[in-house]
Amino acid sequence: MKQIYTIFLIVFFSLISVSCAVNPVTGESQFSLLSRQDEIAIGNEQYGPAQQSQGGQYTVDFELTRYVNEVGQRLADQAKRDYVLPYEFVVLNNSVPNAWALPGGKIAVNRGLLMELDNEAELAAVLGHEVVHAAARHGATAMSRGQLLQGVLTVGAIASQEMAYSDYIVGAGQLGAQLISQRYGRDAEREADYYGIQYMVQAGYDPRAAVSLQETFVRLSEGRDSSWIDGLFASHPPSEERVANNQALVDEIMPLYAGVDLELGEARYQQALARLRADQEAYGLFDEAQRAIADDDLDIAMLNLNQAISLVPNEARFSGLKADIQLYQEDYREAIASYSEAILKDAQYFDYYLGRGVAYSRLGDQNRARQDLERSTELLPTSTAMNELGKIALNNNNRNQAKQYFQTAAGGGGAAATEAALAFTRLDLVDNPGNYVQVQTFTDDQGRVRARVSNQAGIPVTNIQIEFTAAIDGELELRDLRVNSLGANQSVNLNTGLRFPEGVQITSNLLRVRVTGVQAAQ
Ligand SMILES: [Zn+2]
Repeated sequence: MKQIYTIFLIVFFSLISVSCAVNPVTGESQFSLLSRQDEIAIGNEQYGPAQQSQGGQYTVDFELTRYVNEVGQRLADQAKRDYVLPYEFVVLNNSVPNAWALPGGKIAVNRGLLMELDNEAELAAVLGHEVVHAAARHGATAMSRGQLLQGVLTVGAIASQEMAYSDYIVGAGQLGAQLISQRYGRDAEREADYYGIQYMVQAGYDPRAAVSLQETFVRLSEGRDSSWIDGLFASHPPSEERVANNQALVDEIMPLYAGVDLELGEARYQQALARLRADQEAYGLFDEAQRAIADDDLDIAMLNLNQAISLVPNEARFSGLKADIQLYQEDYREAIASYSEAILKDAQYFDYYLGRGVAYSRLGDQNRARQDLERSTELLPTSTAMNELGKIALNNNNRNQAKQYFQTAAGGGGAAATEAALAFTRLDLVDNPGNYVQVQTFTDDQGRVRARVSNQAGIPVTNIQIEFTAAIDGELELRDLRVNSLGANQSVNLNTGLRFPEGVQITSNLLRVRVTGVQAAQ
């Protein structure tokens, strides 16, 4: 229902309320089709799925999330002087250095980026920049202009490694994934840097940290480290120009704050990061395991994961990835045990329910499978889960529900989407044969009605039934014809046995054709 609401809003507002609103940060007029209420609704709705698609929340040290939120709120308080949004900040369980903001003030930073920062002021620079994206409505403007990326969206943390089990987001989760992976454009980035630095200094942070951080980014971008290129730099290409702009602003600002104690917060930052830093070896092993999986080196991956689990026993992702391997190797009972372990440590990540649901399904436990798969789609709808739910619904003779699941799954990507599209066609062609079999009629020079029957289902079909109704000399004549089988994209010509007197112009009133049945070939 929620996704329908969002789509409705977008369509509705693009039809009637094209307008120029005032950007609350810059005071300039700004093109947006979405009201503030729409933006907040989208942020609320998409925050969960967007987090899931990027690895879920970092749960080993909740204190770290509390700390990041506290720093974020200090910056948000500055933005709230212009406009109040329900700001929230979370730490994501993802090694890629990245941060993003959804419309409505929903912001996330990856643990991979936190590890690269040296003090609280640098964190404030990152979060202040994201706060401006939300406050100045950059995401909503991009949405209004239709600039969001289109195409098949994968679950980031996993799929970026091109793992054998990469999964694809379907339905409602796609909007959030599009919003966080888009580029805002140079003007928006300049604006985010400029006002982000202002918020920073107003919140009491030393703005020189923003400049040094940008310098670090420029240096890192020259190194071409792929995790940065995939992460922050994909949406935020660092440049000497950005460094120079920020330096000029800081030079302007600093004299205004002479005598004010602007802080770097280095000790506080190191204390907050202590746990994460102590666990770095384990996360390194986890990242290596993901790379090993991409290289099909599952034994090495398993060794790394077992070692990581012994180092940080309460990190759910380690058990979850181990379970993914067991599932791939069709060790279903072991996979269920490992997924259950992961769920005990963190009950809020879709992958554990998805994998356990698939394992239960393979073992024939449809009830447990359905429960887990439904839970996984609540957290993040994926083509794999929807396809599995479709199969279960079909087993229970719930054809309509099965069709809905298959149709949703087919909107994603990968093997599950292909399989689901086929399953949908097999069901739907029975219900709507006319959508899959095309019949063109024509008359030869003696007025005999012939028909060309084409199979457009994309799969071989059997038992095509076609009903012809003709009004000839005021009499109704009926013909039921049958084509036994027809390969994918094949056609056949039929003689209907109907014949109109010479010279009669045949209209749809005189000749009606209806495909009344068809079945998928076994
Ligand atoms: Zn930005």
